[in-house]
Amino acid sequence: MARDYEKCSFCGRPKRETNMLIAGLDAHICDYCVAQAQSIIAEEMSSRSQDHLTTLEVHKPAEIKAYLDLYVIGQEEAKKVISVAVYNHYKRIMQPRGGIEQSDVEIEKSNIILVGETGTGKTLLARTIARLLRVPFCIADATVFTEAGYVGEDVESILTRLLQAADYNVAAAERGIVFIDEIDKIARKSDNPSITRDVSGEGVQQALLKLLEGSIVNVPPQGGRKHPEQKMIQVNTQNILFIAGGAFDGIDKKIASRLQTNLIGYTVSKDKETINRDNILQYIAPPDLKSFGLIPEIVGRLPVITYLNPLDRDALRRILIEPKNAIIKQFVKLFEMDHIRLTFEEAVLDYIVDKSIEFRLGARGLRSILEAIMTDAMFELPSDKSVRELHVTAGYAEEKLRKTNLSRLKVA
Ligand code: ADP
Repeated sequence: MARDYEKCSFCGRPKRETNMLIAGLDAHICDYCVAQAQSIIAEEMSSRSQDHLTTLEVHKPAEIKAYLDLYVIGQEEAKKVISVAVYNHYKRIMQPRGGIEQSDVEIEKSNIILVGETGTGKTLLARTIARLLRVPFCIADATVFTEAGYVGEDVESILTRLLQAADYNVAAAERGIVFIDEIDKIARKSDNPSITRDVSGEGVQQALLKLLEGSIVNVPPQGGRKHPEQKMIQVNTQNILFIAGGAFDGIDKKIASRLQTNLIGYTVSKDKETINRDNILQYIAPPDLKSFGLIPEIVGRLPVITYLNPLDRDALRRILIEPKNAIIKQFVKLFEMDHIRLTFEEAVLDYIVDKSIEFRLGARGLRSILEAIMTDAMFELPSDKSVRELHVTAGYAEEKLRKTNLSRLKVA
């Protein structure tokens, strides 16, 4: 504790003129100097993050795509569209402060919407982009939101998560990326605006619109419901890139009817073009999202629209071994740490893919199946010093998987 005759080593104020004098090893600091130091730090940090912004390396679309290729198998069209959108997002956030308002040409935000079955890589794409850009990133599930005043979360809590991901650095959060999953679940049930209140659908879309449009939003720092005593943090969403994703089950029928095709024939001719009935999703356009139940304003704020293909056998097999952090590579690494050389018979890969398809688990199932096959070995081998190598054969894989509760892996 500081004594009466002691003074602040920074400003020289004697103890009696301070509210508090804090003693260090052989110096003291008063509350005024602490407050001043704090504001210097805040200013410095914010100017550093501005510097970081102007020195941010811009990746060309082809480079972004090449990076995505390292982690995401297939989905060529989605990767291309996202690469361009992110490149433009970069250019937008690199504009000097005030530039957006002052320059004659305002570059509009290119929020993205990804349409594709669950487990086809939508989240993976968003996550990989965030890793490349080194910007704060968070995932929000649209199904938990309800209109203000109802049980559930306010949409503003999306920004709470982003702030947390940015360690509460508001400037960093303001150029982050938000992935909104399951946006299709907040579609209104019919194409007509509802007269009755629609707590989980249209109301949430309206609230979400505010964020997408680019506005200053009061964010509760700890999340939860807003209440008057809580101090809010103001976040400007103008430069936040929103990527929305959803399975949009049944949207193929809406696309087909827009294209005036029917789903019975394999290919249907339209304006001399041949429409590929196997992958109708590739023709997705904003009106389809509207007829699915997204309000036109939301559709308008998600101008970049792209689709993900369902994963076929070949894609699943590639996912097992090719990505930079492919599941097989991860297991090899795990065993290597115990000085065991792990190899797989080719047939094992086909077996895992077959089972994943059989259980209708898609890419997500690959890991669970491999985990189930490898559990015994992972349990026993670290204690067995005599084993230096494990070659997993199809027979071994089948035997191990049979022993596990297969039905556990099945989706309802
Ligand atoms: P979605 O968001 O579309 O439901 P995810 O991106 O969460 O699906 O995919 C689930 C998991 O499946 C990912 O973590 C990844 O391991 C794997 N996966 C899915 N699609 C791909 C893909 N195209 N390339 C590589 N891995 C994939």
